[in-house]
Amino acid sequence: MLLPIVHYNHPVLRKKGAKITVFDAALAELANDMIETMHHAEGIGLAAQQIGRAIQLCVVDLREGKWEYEWELDGAKPPLDLYMPLALVNPAITILPSDETVYEEGCLSFPQIRGDVVRPDAISVAFKDVFGTPHVLQCTGLLSRCIQHEVDHLNGVLFIDRMDKKVRAELDKPVRLLAKETREKAKL
Ligand SMILES: [Zn+2]
Repeated sequence: MLLPIVHYNHPVLRKKGAKITVFDAALAELANDMIETMHHAEGIGLAAQQIGRAIQLCVVDLREGKWEYEWELDGAKPPLDLYMPLALVNPAITILPSDETVYEEGCLSFPQIRGDVVRPDAISVAFKDVFGTPHVLQCTGLLSRCIQHEVDHLNGVLFIDRMDKKVRAELDKPVRLLAKETREKAKL
């Protein structure tokens, strides 16, 4: 089922997600609906806040495209098709020693708006799957960046908060317009 994606500056985007404690069929179904919604919107990641739920759940899928990155899931390197699309429940990121990289990010809650964001390259993320089984994923490159962006959402942090002042200032007008549009839609 496709879920409506909320846009900036809907208040739910600023809410920290509650920890998930029940791993039932409803959670698996929600993760599936979020994956379907992400694919339909042609995104590579989606967080629960973006479909109006402040809980610790996000999904990612980087099978499309030819991105270079490293990964190790639970100490092995399974083919991407075996573990993506990936749903991460209660993810916790540890930044690993690495260089910072810059990349022009977009966000499904900010249609048409893109801007450079600096982030560390390598992370380790501990999470549970929808069945409650714990996993550890170490990764770099766009996979790492995508997970950092989504886990920020789960904590009420948006990519515009991570931009340096100059990049953020250049986006000020479209960001204000989007917030206005979202406010007006909410009144209808
Ligand atoms: Zn986003």
